[in-house]
Amino acid sequence: MRARILVSDAGAKGVGAFAAAPMRAGSRIASMRGKVQWIWDIPEGFWPYAFQVDYDRYVVPKRDSAGWAMNHSCEPNCVILGASIVARRAIRTGEELTFDYSTDVDWSGFKMKCLCGASGCRKTVRAYRFLPAAVRSSYGDNVAPYIRRRYSAVARRPAH
Ligand SMILES: [Zn+2]
Repeated sequence: MRARILVSDAGAKGVGAFAAAPMRAGSRIASMRGKVQWIWDIPEGFWPYAFQVDYDRYVVPKRDSAGWAMNHSCEPNCVILGASIVARRAIRTGEELTFDYSTDVDWSGFKMKCLCGASGCRKTVRAYRFLPAAVRSSYGDNVAPYIRRRYSAVARRPAH
Protein backbone atom coordinates (compact mmCIF):
# COMPACT_ATOMS: atom_id res chain seq x y z
CA MET A 1 0.00 0.00 0.00
CA ARG A 2 1.30 3.42 -0.88
CA ALA A 3 1.81 5.75 2.08
CA ARG A 4 0.02 9.09 2.23
CA ILE A 5 2.23 11.93 1.12
CA LEU A 6 1.82 15.67 0.88
CA VAL A 7 3.80 17.80 -1.58
CA SER A 8 4.41 21.30 -0.29
CA ASP A 9 6.89 24.11 0.26
CA ALA A 10 10.27 23.09 1.70
CA GLY A 11 11.85 26.55 2.03
CA ALA A 12 15.15 27.11 0.22
CA LYS A 13 14.95 23.60 -1.27
CA GLY A 14 11.77 24.43 -3.25
CA VAL A 15 9.02 21.86 -2.97
CA GLY A 16 9.34 18.77 -0.83
CA ALA A 17 7.41 15.61 0.02
CA PHE A 18 6.09 15.23 3.55
CA ALA A 19 4.50 12.39 5.50
CA ALA A 20 0.77 13.09 5.92
CA ALA A 21 0.46 10.15 8.33
CA PRO A 22 2.85 7.99 10.37
CA MET A 23 4.72 5.49 8.20
CA ARG A 24 6.30 2.19 9.03
CA ALA A 25 9.80 1.26 7.94
CA GLY A 26 9.53 -0.25 4.47
CA SER A 27 6.47 1.82 3.39
CA ARG A 28 6.57 2.52 -0.31
CA ILE A 29 7.01 6.25 -0.96
CA ALA A 30 7.67 6.62 -4.69
CA SER A 31 8.27 4.66 -7.86
CA MET A 32 11.28 5.25 -10.07
CA ARG A 33 9.60 3.55 -13.01
CA GLY A 34 8.45 5.47 -16.06
CA LYS A 35 9.44 6.32 -19.60
CA VAL A 36 13.21 5.94 -19.87
CA GLN A 37 14.73 8.80 -21.85
CA TRP A 38 18.16 9.81 -23.06
CA ILE A 39 19.29 12.84 -21.05
CA TRP A 40 19.43 15.12 -24.10
CA ASP A 41 15.79 14.36 -24.91
CA ILE A 42 14.74 15.78 -21.53
CA PRO A 43 14.36 19.57 -21.20
CA GLU A 44 17.03 20.88 -18.84
CA GLY A 45 14.39 22.33 -16.48
CA PHE A 46 13.31 18.77 -15.63
CA TRP A 47 16.79 17.47 -14.83
CA PRO A 48 16.63 18.30 -11.11
CA TYR A 49 13.48 16.14 -10.78
CA ALA A 50 14.61 13.17 -12.86
CA PHE A 51 15.72 9.78 -11.54
CA GLN A 52 18.83 8.36 -13.13
CA VAL A 53 18.12 4.77 -14.19
CA ASP A 54 21.23 4.05 -16.26
CA TYR A 55 24.18 5.89 -17.76
CA ASP A 56 22.66 8.88 -19.63
CA ARG A 57 19.18 7.41 -19.10
CA TYR A 58 16.60 9.10 -16.88
CA VAL A 59 12.94 8.90 -15.85
CA VAL A 60 11.02 12.13 -15.21
CA PRO A 61 8.44 11.47 -12.48
CA LYS A 62 4.89 12.77 -12.73
CA ARG A 63 4.77 16.46 -11.86
CA ASP A 64 4.14 17.07 -8.13
CA SER A 65 4.28 13.35 -7.32
CA ALA A 66 6.33 12.25 -4.30
CA GLY A 67 9.12 11.18 -6.66
CA TRP A 68 9.13 14.60 -8.26
CA ALA A 69 9.20 16.48 -4.97
CA MET A 70 11.54 14.43 -2.77
CA ASN A 71 14.62 16.32 -1.70
CA HIS A 72 18.08 15.02 -0.96
CA SER A 73 19.45 14.46 2.52
CA CYS A 74 22.85 13.16 3.58
CA GLU A 75 21.01 11.41 6.45
CA PRO A 76 17.79 10.40 4.69
CA ASN A 77 14.73 8.69 6.13
CA CYS A 78 14.08 6.87 2.83
CA VAL A 79 16.22 4.68 0.58
CA ILE A 80 16.05 3.08 -2.84
CA LEU A 81 14.85 -0.52 -2.90
CA GLY A 82 14.71 -1.98 -6.40
CA ALA A 83 12.79 0.53 -8.53
CA SER A 84 11.06 2.11 -5.53
CA ILE A 85 11.87 4.51 -2.74
CA VAL A 86 10.83 3.19 0.67
CA ALA A 87 10.91 4.43 4.26
CA ARG A 88 14.21 3.46 5.89
CA ARG A 89 12.75 3.72 9.39
CA ALA A 90 9.46 4.69 11.04
CA ILE A 91 8.50 8.24 10.01
CA ARG A 92 6.33 10.69 11.95
CA THR A 93 3.53 12.81 10.49
CA GLY A 94 4.95 16.03 9.09
CA GLU A 95 8.51 14.79 8.58
CA GLU A 96 10.04 15.62 5.25
CA LEU A 97 10.70 12.52 3.15
CA THR A 98 14.22 12.45 1.76
CA PHE A 99 16.67 10.11 0.09
CA ASP A 100 20.33 10.38 -0.81
CA TYR A 101 20.67 11.56 -4.43
CA SER A 102 24.16 10.02 -4.53
CA THR A 103 22.53 6.59 -4.35
CA ASP A 104 20.75 7.34 -7.64
CA VAL A 105 23.15 9.53 -9.62
CA ASP A 106 26.45 8.28 -10.94
CA TRP A 107 27.06 10.97 -13.53
CA SER A 108 30.54 12.27 -12.71
CA GLY A 109 29.56 15.89 -13.51
CA PHE A 110 26.80 15.95 -10.89
CA LYS A 111 27.45 18.57 -8.22
CA MET A 112 24.81 20.11 -5.95
CA LYS A 113 25.23 22.34 -2.90
CA CYS A 114 23.54 20.54 -0.01
CA LEU A 115 20.98 22.29 2.17
CA CYS A 116 19.97 19.19 4.20
CA GLY A 117 21.30 20.46 7.52
CA ALA A 118 22.15 16.96 8.83
CA SER A 119 25.08 16.75 11.25
CA GLY A 120 26.90 14.46 8.82
CA CYS A 121 26.15 16.66 5.79
CA ARG A 122 28.63 16.24 2.95
CA LYS A 123 28.02 19.91 1.90
CA THR A 124 28.28 19.01 -1.78
CA VAL A 125 26.25 16.17 -3.27
CA ARG A 126 28.09 14.29 -5.99
CA ALA A 127 27.94 11.05 -7.96
CA TYR A 128 27.90 7.65 -6.25
CA ARG A 129 31.48 7.03 -7.41
CA PHE A 130 32.68 9.85 -5.11
CA LEU A 131 30.87 8.66 -1.96
CA PRO A 132 33.16 7.76 0.94
CA ALA A 133 33.45 3.97 1.37
CA ALA A 134 31.75 4.10 4.79
CA VAL A 135 28.72 5.89 3.32
CA ARG A 136 28.56 3.42 0.43
CA SER A 137 28.61 0.48 2.78
CA SER A 138 25.92 2.05 4.98
CA TYR A 139 23.60 1.95 1.95
CA GLY A 140 24.70 -1.47 0.72
CA ASP A 141 22.29 -2.60 -1.99
CA ASN A 142 19.95 0.37 -1.37
CA VAL A 143 21.15 2.13 -4.51
CA ALA A 144 19.73 2.46 -8.02
CA PRO A 145 19.77 -0.96 -9.71
CA TYR A 146 22.17 0.17 -12.49
CA ILE A 147 24.65 1.31 -9.82
CA ARG A 148 24.27 -1.95 -7.90
CA ARG A 149 24.91 -3.94 -11.09
CA ARG A 150 27.96 -1.95 -12.04
CA TYR A 151 29.67 -1.75 -8.69
CA SER A 152 28.92 -5.26 -7.49
CA ALA A 153 30.42 -6.50 -10.79
CA VAL A 154 33.55 -4.48 -9.98
CA ALA A 155 33.65 -5.93 -6.45
CA ARG A 156 33.43 -9.49 -7.81
CA ARG A 157 36.40 -9.02 -10.14
CA PRO A 158 39.31 -11.09 -8.79
CA ALA A 159 42.21 -9.07 -7.37
CA HIS A 160 45.64 -9.32 -9.03
ZN1 LIG B 1 23.66 17.25 3.24
